[in-house]
Amino acid sequence: MKQLVITQAHHDEIIAHAQAGAPNEVCGLLAGRAGRADALWRARNVAADPRLDYEMNPQTLLKQFEFEEQGQEMVAIYHSHPESPAYPSATDALRAYYPDSVYVICSLADAAQPVMAGFRMIQGEAEPMAGLPPDVVPVRNRVDLLMRYAAADGDRPARYELYSVTDDRRINCQVVEIEEVEIILSQEAAWQQ
Ligand SMILES: [Zn+2]
Repeated sequence: MKQLVITQAHHDEIIAHAQAGAPNEVCGLLAGRAGRADALWRARNVAADPRLDYEMNPQTLLKQFEFEEQGQEMVAIYHSHPESPAYPSATDALRAYYPDSVYVICSLADAAQPVMAGFRMIQGEAEPMAGLPPDVVPVRNRVDLLMRYAAADGDRPARYELYSVTDDRRINCQVVEIEEVEIILSQEAAWQQ
């Protein structure tokens, strides 16, 4: 299992951000090197419905180029789930454009005990389909996006199959694999530069 090392301070900061933003989802970035985060930026959630989704404001995403110049990378993207578990939703999988970043999800479903979990999400190519499988379910009552979820099975990672239906009724399927990433807490205040 891949690992992400974050400081206790950043861990606590993500929880504090999630709690301050509830009932909306909040989001932000962790920059660092080789799976170790050493800087955190809170972002603004500009999703149309921030209670159900997150979309990072573009100005924060552009910070990538600043820290890449300093030899750092975007090691993680975090967001909160005010009411649902610490597991990627179908729409999280749909928008997981950064296969090298860890997606950290902070769940406040149990208000007394926030839970944080990390994932990598790897998107496959969208493939045209002749029809929809019988057991797909709509994503949040949408008619243009349906999904099927399969839990991890042996060597096969957990995955969403996302079926998008175009205006002219064509169907594309995209598989997004989900792998758990272990979050390791460090007591160091910050990494040595
Ligand atoms: Zn989510």
